[in-house]
Amino acid sequence: MCYAIPGKVQSIEGRIALINYFGEIKRAVHELALLAPGDYVYAQGGYVINKVSAAEAESVLSAWKEMFFTLQETDRVYSVFSLANQPADPRLKNILNKATEGKDLTPEDARVLFSREKTEEINLVFKTANYLRHQYHKNACCVHGIVELSNYCRRNCFYCGISSYNKELERYRMSMDEVVDAVSSAANNYGFKAFVLQSGEDCGYGIDELAEIISRVKKRNDCFIVISFGEMDEGALRKLFAAGARGLLMRFETSNSALYEKLHPGYSLGKRVETIKLAYEIGYMIITGSLVGLPGQSQEDIMNDIFFARELHPEMFSCGPFLRHPNTPLAGDIFSDEQLVFKTLAAARLILPREVTIPVTTAFETLSPRSRLQGLISGANSVMVNLTPLKYRKLYSLYPGRAHDDEDVSIQIKETVALLQSLGRAPVDPGNETIDKNSF
Ligand code: SAH
Repeated sequence: MCYAIPGKVQSIEGRIALINYFGEIKRAVHELALLAPGDYVYAQGGYVINKVSAAEAESVLSAWKEMFFTLQETDRVYSVFSLANQPADPRLKNILNKATEGKDLTPEDARVLFSREKTEEINLVFKTANYLRHQYHKNACCVHGIVELSNYCRRNCFYCGISSYNKELERYRMSMDEVVDAVSSAANNYGFKAFVLQSGEDCGYGIDELAEIISRVKKRNDCFIVISFGEMDEGALRKLFAAGARGLLMRFETSNSALYEKLHPGYSLGKRVETIKLAYEIGYMIITGSLVGLPGQSQEDIMNDIFFARELHPEMFSCGPFLRHPNTPLAGDIFSDEQLVFKTLAAARLILPREVTIPVTTAFETLSPRSRLQGLISGANSVMVNLTPLKYRKLYSLYPGRAHDDEDVSIQIKETVALLQSLGRAPVDPGNETIDKNSF
């Protein structure tokens, strides 16, 4: 994630700190031995990363103050709207009203959302999702940095370009130094404070070596680390937690277990979800979600995926379009129902708890250059920046034509910041849920 601004600890209750950012109060989990009200801290993804001196914090805050309020105002103008005079099916309006009142939507409500065909009605769903994003998260947009450390994979996922089906792919595994350097240079040069470390399963490193990578990264940088190395047993998850990892990114891919087994011969949905549940029990923050548009997947399946994710205590819901890779059993013409993937993103904002972060994932961006913008105004509050060194980036070939495959980090940051500024979004992630009384 790019820039963070420091906040002032207002109060502490057990592991939860309430942090004040220019009058907005957010909550974050902390594990620091000595933290007291009045201290300044950096937090990311709802997690306190480190303490900073008052002098350092105040100098950053004074540089940000004016910008902070200008951006907030731009976002407010784009986001606030009233459902009252909008022409739409009364059933749809009822559901959208229910969502804006913070009430839980039912699968029947979701069916109504997903079955919209008229452009004006679909746009109304998008606008409501954006309104809720604004109510829940204000204009904060977290920018995730991802390092893809190896494309070796033993799995046979039918859709995935780095699966063992792809015999033509040149395989790579970054050295430990390369991983630590990629993270540290993003932290030092751009202020990133949270990182996803991802790879294929059985990536060529053993668990002890992955733990060593995490400890080395943590030693060099105050940061939040999310692991995404595939399925693991409890011992491995605990080892990586002890090394300093605090988030797990693992999509369940589809909540339809029969379809899951068809697409992953020899593997089961239950086993995959077990890793997610174990990680949650250990204390990891959970990022999970699904693919949209898999062959054999119905609209009902996609809708169910959101409700399925809701039960897994997600901090973040990550979904994206399935894009066909030529060297997989699902090779074929690239075709994605764009409207369906954006409907899924917007529906997720309406259905999932308010604190859930929803990223515009790279697969969305691969659909079209406008997708990042479209996602951000349809309920998303996070974007990705790829930090994998350029010499390896194209080899992490999950699907063809991946967005940002040849863009240097500095170019990605420049474009990201420009887009966020034009929308009034601040590339900061100050904590978790806004609990300011004016927030809803
Ligand atoms: N080994 C890790 C990372 C897997 S790759 C794990 O098991 O979680 C990261 C994600 O890429 C997958 O979870 C999948 O949802 C997505 N992905 C793979 N192939 C894809 C494709 N062809 N189109 C779109 N997304 C794809």
